[in-house]
Amino acid sequence: MIYIKSKKFGSLQTNCYLLSNKDSTIIIDPGEKSHKWIEENSKNIKAIFLTHGHYDHTASLKKIILNNNSIPIYINILDKELLKEDFSEQEIDKYFTFFEKDIEIKINNFEHSFYLTHIPGHTSGSSGLYFKNNFFSGDLIFKNTVGRHNFWNSSVLEMKESLKKLYALFNDSEEVIYIYPGHDSMMTFSECKNTITTWIELLNKKILKRNNSKNTNATSRQKAVYLNYKNKKD
Ligand SMILES: [Zn+2]
Repeated sequence: MIYIKSKKFGSLQTNCYLLSNKDSTIIIDPGEKSHKWIEENSKNIKAIFLTHGHYDHTASLKKIILNNNSIPIYINILDKELLKEDFSEQEIDKYFTFFEKDIEIKINNFEHSFYLTHIPGHTSGSSGLYFKNNFFSGDLIFKNTVGRHNFWNSSVLEMKESLKKLYALFNDSEEVIYIYPGHDSMMTFSECKNTITTWIELLNKKILKRNNSKNTNATSRQKAVYLNYKNKKD
């Protein structure tokens, strides 16, 4: 049996989650000033999972590994760059366990498997963790909206694909699926289904509009080149 505990930390009220069984704990997103609460509420920390590399999700890492630097910290390789704000190259190589594709991991003392799945868009390495009917979604989706997708390593297209992936992953599930986002409160998959489908459409429109305006730009550029050429000739 795994018990899930959560608390919001920092100015962005980022959720930190603790997954514990009777003698061990896994931490998800240890944000700003969360280390004391983590210390008081965890048992034997076996792993840390980061949904992505933004500071509000990672700020307490150093304090936690100060006491135990053998805890594996899982993060998608595509968010490695974001860790450089707080860690040296050497520290990054020493402390972090990078994954690339969707993987299944076993963590000591936990009988269930955990699945890490790539859901980019908010950042290029954004990933979710799930086990049984629980999905930790980072900043992909909230009850009524989706995460920001205008950072330097964000992508509107990937955001749309990740929402589709989430939908496909759980839409046929007969069990109730619980989604635990990086901010805001927990929700069921059915509660956010509408948000998912609405945003797939919205993002699609955004992509089409962008493509169209690119095409018009290209056409007007061609026109300008032609006129320039024509004028010279005339
Ligand atoms: Zn973020």
